Amino acid sequence: MQNDPLSHGLWETSAPPPPPTSPLTGRVKADVAIVGCGYTGLSAALRLAEAGAKVVALEAVEIGFGGAGRNVGLVNAGMWVMPREVVKALGPDYGERTLSLLGGAPAEVFETIDKCAIDCDPVRNGTLHCAVGASGLEEIEERARQLGERGAPVRVLSAAETATRIGSKAYAGALIDMRAGTIQPLAYARGLARAAIAAGAAIHTLSPVGAAERTGGLWTLHTGNGAVAADWIVVATDAYGGAPWPQTRREQIRLPYFNFATQPLGADLQAAILPGREGCWDTRKILSSFRFDRAGRMVFGSFGALRGTGLPIHRAWAKRALNKIFPRIGRIEFEAQWYGMIGMTDNALPRFHRLAENVVTVCGYNGRGIRPGTVFGRVLADYVLGRTADEPDAPALPSLREAYYEAGAQIAHAVGAWL
Ligand SMILES: Cc1cc2nc3c(=O)[nH]c(=O)nc-3n(C[C@H](O)[C@H](O)[C@H](O)COP(=O)(O)OP(=O)(O)OC[C@H]3O[C@@H](n4cnc5c(N)ncnc54)[C@H](O)[C@@H]3O)c2cc1C
Repeated sequence: MQNDPLSHGLWETSAPPPPPTSPLTGRVKADVAIVGCGYTGLSAALRLAEAGAKVVALEAVEIGFGGAGRNVGLVNAGMWVMPREVVKALGPDYGERTLSLLGGAPAEVFETIDKCAIDCDPVRNGTLHCAVGASGLEEIEERARQLGERGAPVRVLSAAETATRIGSKAYAGALIDMRAGTIQPLAYARGLARAAIAAGAAIHTLSPVGAAERTGGLWTLHTGNGAVAADWIVVATDAYGGAPWPQTRREQIRLPYFNFATQPLGADLQAAILPGREGCWDTRKILSSFRFDRAGRMVFGSFGALRGTGLPIHRAWAKRALNKIFPRIGRIEFEAQWYGMIGMTDNALPRFHRLAENVVTVCGYNGRGIRPGTVFGRVLADYVLGRTADEPDAPALPSLREAYYEAGAQIAHAVGAWL
């Protein structure tokens, strides 16, 4: 993508091609214009087009250019925040509704994949939240208790069972969540785009929205060579946004997260490591994630940016850390490496905003956007179509110090060997 192998890495080289699209030219009219073609924008475009609305979606660069094309591909079911904290933060009504909406969201992702026949390697074998030490075990046990109270199909695996499932003795246990799984993330975004176009949506790439004006009850969005007049605007730019509605970007701290992909591992290693092909991450503050892709490459990630001194530091750390978790892997060669920006809100919860009259957004997925992007895209579509009047509360927040986190991740990976 954009000839930058560090932006979308393995996902770019292994995804089916995107549907043909072109930049917007001239002036068009739509019922709804969407800014941004990641999961949120594409899911909204699909639902709106299926409902018969005239939709025009505008993407600054390419489909999946933001987080959607760079992430790990874990279709998580839970949130960072413990369930009881979600209820405390949002109140009993919105809190429980949010938990139930997002708890059912992985199923909605996989149903969308099935319904639209999206070729994106879906694996519905659950995720493993891996406990590091006694405190990690305590954390996942508490999480399992709170999720179990709400009927979620989760359980804590013993250290022995975890070792068998993962093929590593590095963990004190793991929380298995059978609602979750993995996908090829860029392939999913491209498949959503293909489905939205088939349903009647127009998608224009290389069409950054630079300005918006409201006249006569209509919004007009301006790109370099075109304009869309629309009754409603869905802003779906999340952590990659800017003009003309920079609030969603500003209220999030952007944390860089990288992935390295090994060459396909040998058959014996693939049989011994994650034979169930679950997606994994651990309980550390600077966490690591790992999963296999379709071809048996191990995709291993953590916080940090692969630029400047970050690239050699994080690459060396990733090799050490992988060897420590899976000593049997031996010599590691990485075939691909890439990174992107995760948008974090101060309470680690997503936000709905009415940015102006008839301009709505949901953002702030805190590194867990596959399932909320899919579901909140649909929720935004329903809201615009007048199918629901509900609005979650959405406080605005000041932006914080991102540079601190980027430097912090390098220091941790440089000096901490394997934190
Ligand atoms: C490295 C990494 C790892 C992650 N791992 C996971 C994971 O394993 N599981 C998970 O669920 N989530 C994960 N996430 C988070 C997830 O990728 C995001 O939450 C998700 O992509 C957000 O979807 P979105 O559609 O809201 O925004 P994005 O996918 O970021 O899309 C926003 C789009 O808006 C476009 N845009 C911005 N401004 C304009 C403009 N002015 N005009 C037109 N277009 C514009 C951008 O180019 C971009 O394509 C990860 C993120 C990163 C970066």
